[in-house]
This record gives sequence, C-alpha cells and structure tokens, in this order.
Amino acid sequence: MPTHTTAQADFVVIGAGMAGASVAYWLAPHGRVVLLERESQPGYHTTGRSAAVYLEAYGSAQVRALTLASRDYFLRPPAAFGDHPLMTQRGAMMVAAPGQEAELQAHAQVLAGLGLRHERLTPEQACERVPVLRPQRVSAALLEPDACDLDVHAIHQGFLKGMHQHGGQLVCQAEVQALQHASGQWTVQTSAGNWQAPVVLNAAGAWAEHIGQLAGAQSIGLVPYRRAAFTFALPADVDASHWPMTYSAGEDWYFKPDAGLLLASPANADPTEPQDVQPEELDIALGIHRIEEATTLTIRRPAHTWAGLRSFVSDKSLVGGFDVQAPGFFWVAGQGGYGIQTSAAMGEACASLARGEPLPQRLLDFGLTTEALSPRRLDRQR
Ligand SMILES: Cc1cc2nc3c(=O)[nH]c(=O)nc-3n(C[C@H](O)[C@H](O)[C@H](O)COP(=O)(O)OP(=O)(O)OC[C@H]3O[C@@H](n4cnc5c(N)ncnc54)[C@H](O)[C@@H]3O)c2cc1C
Repeated sequence: MPTHTTAQADFVVIGAGMAGASVAYWLAPHGRVVLLERESQPGYHTTGRSAAVYLEAYGSAQVRALTLASRDYFLRPPAAFGDHPLMTQRGAMMVAAPGQEAELQAHAQVLAGLGLRHERLTPEQACERVPVLRPQRVSAALLEPDACDLDVHAIHQGFLKGMHQHGGQLVCQAEVQALQHASGQWTVQTSAGNWQAPVVLNAAGAWAEHIGQLAGAQSIGLVPYRRAAFTFALPADVDASHWPMTYSAGEDWYFKPDAGLLLASPANADPTEPQDVQPEELDIALGIHRIEEATTLTIRRPAHTWAGLRSFVSDKSLVGGFDVQAPGFFWVAGQGGYGIQTSAAMGEACASLARGEPLPQRLLDFGLTTEALSPRRLDRQR
C-alpha cells in the first residue's frame, strides 16, 4: 500500500502473534479487520518461541478460566485449523525435591479445588515414568494426566486462515509508528501506509506498553521477562517419547519430549526491554546444570537454543479491555507464559468486548468476568 493512502477498517489489530491473530479471527465475521505486523512473518517473536504446553492449573484463577475455556475449541476446531489434532495428551509431572513438598501440596490443592484429574506418585513411580530422574532428588511427585502438547503453528495459522476467510487482512512489514485519535476515528500510521478505524486493538506482545504510549493510553505496567529454552539429544538407548512434561515444584527447570529430542528450560524470568531477544549463555548453562542435577543426563551440547519474552502485568493475569483514558483503544496484553493455551477464549472474549458486547455465556460459565480482564482492575491495585 502506498504510504499516502488511508484505508478504512472497523478494527485495526496491532501485532500478529497468537494474541492478535486470535482476536482478529473472532472479530473478522463482524466487520472489516486489518491485522498489522511489523515483521515479515507473523509469529516471529514470543509466539514462535514457546514450549507448546497446555497446563490446566497454571497461573491465576483468570488464567485458568481462560485455559479451561479454550480446551474445547482446541479439541474440536473448525476446518480452517486443518486435519491434525491441535492438542495431544502428554501429561505433566511435578517433581518435588526434598524441601519442596509444600509447593507440591499447594498445587495438589489447586487441582483438587478445580476438580481436575491428578494423581500422587511415590518417588519410585515417578522414576518409573521418567527413568533418568535421580531417586534421591525426588521426594514427592504429582501427575496431571490431562496436560497436553499444543500444535502452536497450526493454532496460529488456523486463526489467520479463519480471519482471512471472513475477509480480514494481514499486512506484514507494517510497523505502527504513530496513532492519532480525532472525530471518533483512530489513524494508524505504519511503515506500509495508514489505516483508520474507530477501534484499535493493541496485541503487540512485549511492545504493548510502547503502543499504549503512542496512543496516549494509561500505562498497564507491563514488564517483559526473558526466558531461555534449548533442545538436546538423548542417549540412543533412551526413548523419551512417552514421558510426561516434567517440571520442578520449585519452578526452576522443566523438560519435555520434542520431536525426538528433549526441550528444556531453566524457567528463568529476567526483566528485559522489548527486543528480538537472544539466549544468554548463562541462562542455558543454568538450565543444563539444573537438569543434570535433577537427572542422570549429561548434556554435552544443546542442539538449538533460543529465548523469548513473556510479558506480565503486576497480577500476572491477562488484560483484555478498553483503555481508561484513550477512547476506542483496546488492550489485548499480558499473555505471560500462557498466551497459547488461553488464546481461543481470550480472542473470543476480547472480540466480544471490543464490539461493545458482553462476554458470551460460554465464557461466563467458566467464571470469566469482564472486570477480571479489564485494565481498570490494575488501577485499583495501584
Ligand atoms: C520459552 C517460552 C515458553 C513458553 N511456553 C508456553 C507454553 O507452553 N504455553 C503457553 O500457552 N504459552 C507459553 N509461552 C508464552 C506464549 O508464547 C506467549 O504468551 C504468547 O506467544 C504471546 O503472544 P503475543 O501475540 O502476545 O506476543 P508475540 O508473539 O510477541 O506477538 C506480538 C507481535 O506484535 C508485533 N509488534 C510489536 N510492535 C509492533 C508495531 N509497532 N507494529 C506492528 N507490529 C508490532 C511483534 O512483531 C510481534 O509479532 C512461552 C513463552 C516462552 C518465551
């Protein structure tokens, strides 16, 4: 699009990661949607760097409601999402080292409170499931059989394809540079031209606070945190394909089978400026050290290393709602470490609210509320 033209839309969504793609998907049947992405491909940042896990009891009550409300959608998606399952049962096993029993007990209580399936395992049973665990480092274990692997690429592409089928438009290499509001319309200036719409949705991931500043919106106090991950090969005689995702009750390491390798992380969370973040050698070394301590594995050289930014507001729940001071400016932010597993319900919820509609009953039934999503709650917490 030549830079001097200004095209009209009903909704402009900024950022084509999982958050932007899902809300654009749910909005597209209701109006003209333009989804703007700075990079040459959507999903280049955090969305393309996740561990692809669906953990039902992870995060705050709001996060859990969004996660549980997304499950049916991932299990029975429409045709745009392809023929392959989006979710595959893997199971997850929390392992408590000596001294971490209380953390495991607290997690068991959360699972019980939510009525989610879980099973206490003896250290022997845990080591039978994942034989590389060092028995002396396992004091207790908890299995969550319904934890799943997610096909992140298929979910993301399904949202984009579904949006496209309803007339929505994805524009890549369109960096939003300025936002102006006048006469009930936002003008969105980008490196690929200008768009106008009464409603702008900010799904810019780690850059959401910056986009908020461009719009004169109230800060939501979003902080991006760096997390490293790596894959490594297992000894030839170890078949890990049926291992659950295995994670420490102290939240300082996890690993899961991934296409014949193990994917692992030191589960670090280091505050970082928004950027194309790269893995720090120290983070990878820490991950290797912690996994070698917990298991009998020797990790000589990772096959692949990467890092991504998980962006949180102070209460670690997601933010979906109109800004307090910038009219027609809607936040879809703070996806933290749950932006994939919550994406179906978060997109649906935000699309309803951005259209001025109430939350669908389906989502209310999971305990989700407009107030729990709204950026206004952050005001009250300040
Ligand atoms: C190591 C790691 C493991 C994780 N594991 C899981 C997991 O197992 N399960 C899970 O559910 N979640 C997981 N997550 C979290 C999940 O990946 C994120 O919550 C999710 O991807 C965030 O999506 P997003 O769309 O908000 O951000 P992004 O994917 O970063 O998308 C934001 C987009 O906005 C674009 N943008 C920014 N500024 C502009 C601008 N000015 N103009 C135009 N476009 C702009 C960016 O280019 C980017 O593409 C993990 C994250 C990490 C790092």
